[in-house]
Amino acid sequence: MVKLKQLPKFKELHKEVMRSMRSYADYSAYVQLIENSRAMTGMLRNRYLEWEEKKLLKERPCPLCGSSKNLERLFRKKDIPLRAYTKCNSCDLVFESPFVDENTYTELYKSSFEGIEKKARDIKENHRINDALITSYKPLELINMRQKSGKFLDFGCGTGWVMNLAKKRFGYDVYGIDIDENAIARAARLIGEPDKVLNGNNYDEGELNGMFDIVHSNQSLEHILNPGMYIRKFYNWLSPGGLLFLSFPVSDSFVFRFLGERNCMSQVGHISMFSRLSITSLLKRNGFTDISFQHTWVDLSALEFIKKLLGVPFTHRQVYVKSKAAIVSLYFPVSLITIVLHSLEHIGFLKGNYGYVFARKYEGAGHLRH
Ligand SMILES: [Zn+2]
Repeated sequence: MVKLKQLPKFKELHKEVMRSMRSYADYSAYVQLIENSRAMTGMLRNRYLEWEEKKLLKERPCPLCGSSKNLERLFRKKDIPLRAYTKCNSCDLVFESPFVDENTYTELYKSSFEGIEKKARDIKENHRINDALITSYKPLELINMRQKSGKFLDFGCGTGWVMNLAKKRFGYDVYGIDIDENAIARAARLIGEPDKVLNGNNYDEGELNGMFDIVHSNQSLEHILNPGMYIRKFYNWLSPGGLLFLSFPVSDSFVFRFLGERNCMSQVGHISMFSRLSITSLLKRNGFTDISFQHTWVDLSALEFIKKLLGVPFTHRQVYVKSKAAIVSLYFPVSLITIVLHSLEHIGFLKGNYGYVFARKYEGAGHLRH
């Protein structure tokens, strides 16, 4: 159904495109970041080989519903062929399988991906394109429309940029949790209240029960081995009537399906991928109410679109442009195709790469669930 009044304004789209091109604007940062992410792929390829040799990689049942029958292999990744994605046709979750156990997996995050993730942050910081400088973040505005004040938990807070904005722009009493020790130290510095940034490997989760008016989680659910358990934790941590916001890359987007094994939403660490169907039914099963879901942000450049059609190999979001001039000449076709894709998304024709989900804990919820 075409909804013309929902067509996006050109100015807003232009702003979005410019924001997504942040790293392209500084050519040397762009080159360094691409080289760093190649180093990451190389390191992880070796890690997967080592896991395979030690027989740590194991096929697993659906981590959400436990089904081991109704599973379908979606694809193997091109860059790290030991990585494969499976779809559960019972609950619609897409997950990485075979995979390692929780301890082996958590080690990667604790070490900031052997320092490579930390290096990416340093490059951004040196070029003044780090997250701490982000001044607008749409989900916070959407949250504020629903919940004006109170205790705000950022689950998977990373370097703390969302906490920073939530505190300074909206006056929330902010807390954060992460497991990357380097990121935790940065978040504590940024917020200036180290006690409020918790280490996810070492905290008393019972103490958080009923404590928060808002639980926010931006791009962390997809990194979790057992996401259903965390939905129950979020429920426990919220006060009655509290608001949950989740944002994550989805498995039912246009780009995920169009690019298949090349889509960047299936990057390393994205081990549990939800769709509208899987997340809304999970939230319902766990007692949440007022559930709403929207797809957002179709992320595909002109170059990637054309390469995919021509069957030329590439890595989504890592298309290497060899000169500054090429970046400038690319800007216009890139923004044009993005505007076309966005317009198609806004009229409900295409599903964006990410999902925004809002839900509430029942006002009258009295007892804690398991
Ligand atoms: Zn399942």
